[in-house]
Formats: sequence, structure tokens, C-alpha cells
Amino acid sequence: MVFAHDTENSLLAAVDLVNAEEPPSTMTTVADLEAFYARHGYTGRLDRTTHELARVRALAPRLRGLLLADRDHAPGLVNELLAQEHAIPRLVRHAGQDWHLHAVAADAPLDTRIVVETAMAMIDVVRADEHSRLAVCADADCDGLVLDLSRNRSRRYCSVACTNRNAQAALRARRAGAAAG
Ligand SMILES: [Zn+2]
Ligand SMILES: [Zn+2]
Repeated sequence: MVFAHDTENSLLAAVDLVNAEEPPSTMTTVADLEAFYARHGYTGRLDRTTHELARVRALAPRLRGLLLADRDHAPGLVNELLAQEHAIPRLVRHAGQDWHLHAVAADAPLDTRIVVETAMAMIDVVRADEHSRLAVCADADCDGLVLDLSRNRSRRYCSVACTNRNAQAALRARRAGAAAG
């Protein structure tokens, strides 16, 4: 494990949300939002409204900026966001999740909780100087984000689709080279 489990969960959720909003969006219905909520083990308020869905979707550019911010810029963004949302970190333990941090109330809007949790996770990224774990997908035509939590830092693509497409292209290039040689 590179970071504490709640930090890793928050980063995974933020990256998932940013990538879901890469066109064509895969977060277009309240059902998609419910699936996202369940997939990342969220607890607390979920309105299941199109308003909530719109607010969560609108977070994507802000999350992208936070996740890709470098060591000189991330602290300012994080500090500003935590102050703006009146974040007060506290340890919480609830069903299925051992002690972890919450910084806003469980009945705060979901988009507020997501952005504050992402900022809280970035605190760990900054302190550990692990910004290189977060990058844009290595596929030439993809702007998806990659969160590499692997021990040997081997992850380069945002999805299985991007990994496979590039593996096939590399194979074709090798075959063409062999045929020409
Ligand atoms: Zn919790
Ligand atoms: Zn990709």
C-alpha cells in the first residue's frame, strides 16, 4: 500500500470521476451516480437527483486540476479548498470501514464531500512527494488520468481499453519491422 486506505480510496474515486467525464461521459444518469457511490464505498447523503448528478459531474475539471497539480501548486489549491469548505478533520469508524478521516459532515452534499476528500488525499500525496503516481494516460489520444498504486510503478494507461490498444499497436509495429527487416 502506497498511501493509507482512505487516501487511496479517495484518489481512486476522484480519478474514476474525472475519467467518467472524458467524452463520451459514462456518468449521465442518476443510476450511474448510484453505481459510482456504491463502487467507491461512499456513505452518508445521496439525494439521487439530477441536480446532485450535475453538481458531481461539474467537479471533474476541478478534480483534474487538483490531482495533476505539482508540488508547488497543490498545497495552495488544497489549503484554499479546505478553508472554503470549513473542513475539520476527524477520525470516524462506521460499518465496514475502520478508522479513517472525514472532514465535512455526512449530510453535506456529495460533491462537497468528494472534493474535500480529494483535497485531504492530496495532503498525503504532497507530504509523501508521490505526485508521479498521478499522470495523464500514455495513450496519445486519451486524456484520462492514471493513478499508479503498483509497487513497481508500471501503470501507464487509464483503462484496459487503452492498455490493449497500445499493446496491439506495439505488436503491429514489431511485425511490420520484422517484415521490413
Ligand atoms: Zn467514512
Ligand atoms: Zn487512456
